[in-house]
Amino acid sequence: MIIVMQPAATPADLDHVVSRVTALGLRPHVIVGTERTVVAVVGDERNAVSSGLESLPGVASVMPILAPYKVASREVQSEPTVVRAGPLVVGGGTIGVIAGPCSVESREQIVATARAVKAAGATGLRGGAFKPRTSPYAFQGLKEHGLELLAEAREATGLAIVTEVVAPEDVPLVARYADVLQVGARNMQNYRLLEAVGRTAVPVLLKPGPAATVEELLLAAEYILDAGNRQVMLCERGIRTFESHTRFTLPLATVPWLHARTHLPVVVDPSHGTGHANLVESMAAASVAVGADGLIIEVHPDPKCAASDASQTIDLPAFARLMDTCRRIAAAVDRSVSPAPPAP
Ligand code: PEP
Ligand code: MN
Repeated sequence: MIIVMQPAATPADLDHVVSRVTALGLRPHVIVGTERTVVAVVGDERNAVSSGLESLPGVASVMPILAPYKVASREVQSEPTVVRAGPLVVGGGTIGVIAGPCSVESREQIVATARAVKAAGATGLRGGAFKPRTSPYAFQGLKEHGLELLAEAREATGLAIVTEVVAPEDVPLVARYADVLQVGARNMQNYRLLEAVGRTAVPVLLKPGPAATVEELLLAAEYILDAGNRQVMLCERGIRTFESHTRFTLPLATVPWLHARTHLPVVVDPSHGTGHANLVESMAAASVAVGADGLIIEVHPDPKCAASDASQTIDLPAFARLMDTCRRIAAAVDRSVSPAPPAP
């Protein structure tokens, strides 16, 4: 349920509501908006029947939350969430661009990519150090050494580091290096992992499983939000269909659909979404046109030699062209691509 506070409610009224809700065995999430403060109450609401919450001082009304996802829903928070990780800003009219290789391979590769994508306007650097690969024999990533190289690239450029965490026990290690924790498609329903990233203060990029519904994605996000981390971005990365001309099918209607139902920002990944380097720029442009709050793009200095996802990876000049196109589309839809940070 949502407890809507009166405009004149005092901090003491709010504290009182929060402690009553906690005493009922429910979890309160306080959301301070510009118009109103609400307390989203989650947990088994049978405990709250005839609890008299509506008559507490400072309470304006108590309403049910109709959506199955609660803290993620627009009913609870009408203003968009803006995710911030250093120079990376995603949401609220600013399009944050995250670019970099599928996998971190070497110091030269990651630092050269970081410098080039920054010069083209990216504010986040992606790079997998722990890679979830379909085959156990494929390159699994440089693990902690990959994280060290990402930290060097951040040192050199100031870009925010976006990197995947694949297991709950790795969260403390990856969170020491990452500015954004990526939870990948294969892990969207790894609920222990969602809870573990939810207990950190590091923003999360959540990718849906290729066979997940958007409602399941929102419920996965809810695990992270309910654990206390409100800095969550959703990512459309393509779904599995009967169609085989692209690696996945990229359903861009998801972007406005999600915007109508959640305040969380929506990022699009046209690299995994298409699987073909020559389709990435068009689908990045289309993503910006439909209102995406961010893009995540696979970029490599020499894509044909990339250790993973070579066929969908674009080179550095192609990324600069993509950014030019996206800036022009963003201006046409009254948004802007966030500028790269100054030199560190
Ligand atoms: C990736 O970003 O390299 C990745 C593995 O993505 P996904 O989880 O969407 O397959
Ligand atoms: Mn990849």
